[in-house]
Amino acid sequence: MNKHIKGNLIYFTFDNFDTTGLVKHCFSTRKGGVSKGCYSSMNLSFRDDLKENVIDNYKILCSAIGCNYKNVVFSNQVHGNRLYYANETDRGKGLLKESDIKNIDGLITDKKDVLLTTFYADCVPLFFLDICKKVISVSHAGWRGTVNKIGEETINKMVYEFGCNKENIIAGIGPSIGKCCFEVDSPVAEEFMQKLPFSIDYVKKDLYKEGKYKIDLKEINKLIMINAGLSEKNIEVSDICTKCEIDLMFSHRRMGSSRGAMAGLLQLC
Ligand SMILES: [Zn+2]
Repeated sequence: MNKHIKGNLIYFTFDNFDTTGLVKHCFSTRKGGVSKGCYSSMNLSFRDDLKENVIDNYKILCSAIGCNYKNVVFSNQVHGNRLYYANETDRGKGLLKESDIKNIDGLITDKKDVLLTTFYADCVPLFFLDICKKVISVSHAGWRGTVNKIGEETINKMVYEFGCNKENIIAGIGPSIGKCCFEVDSPVAEEFMQKLPFSIDYVKKDLYKEGKYKIDLKEINKLIMINAGLSEKNIEVSDICTKCEIDLMFSHRRMGSSRGAMAGLLQLC
């Protein structure tokens, strides 16, 4: 990924998305916003933060990437695997007006100036772009979304509902909790090995902690994409672990619920 530093503001973009010239996008960090305390400073979901600060944070970040914050669309996220087709009438939902987009973890559009937005504090952001059909999607993959293959759901929706060709789809897997830090108990590990047999090499028993496992969510999401038909060379993966990067990232595992959230933003030019 490319790291962008503009004054106090820091955000990342995928190199493979940048080079297309077809989209504006980013994955944010904690840096460059106006929120205080545990939300300091670039908090992008309301939680118990001051509403005007969150809106100001969107204004700052959107302006930096050349987007209008009034085009932001977001849903509530429920760790499911359902997607929603967002169009012009959805602009502002979640941020500036009540959102009726419920039980949704992925957003998809073929419309310009619809700024797809999902939130993170350890979960895995999945970005997609069909460079020919000009269809985009962002999906929020926590461990539940991963084990229920939201990445494959997204690709299938692009192909079957928007006529995309898998050869033309590029993808990005953004900053999230790494294999260094994503520790789970055996029921979660077993669910992965049962539902996703190919994940067995990426679910490792912790040799020092009885009954604990470490899971590589990024690599498993990459394999889900490859199994769904994407070309490995079209998938860019961030090596940032949100739990390890104390100054740069919010992390649920590190901070608990007293924290802000980063966002993945994606819009067609
Ligand atoms: Zn880590």
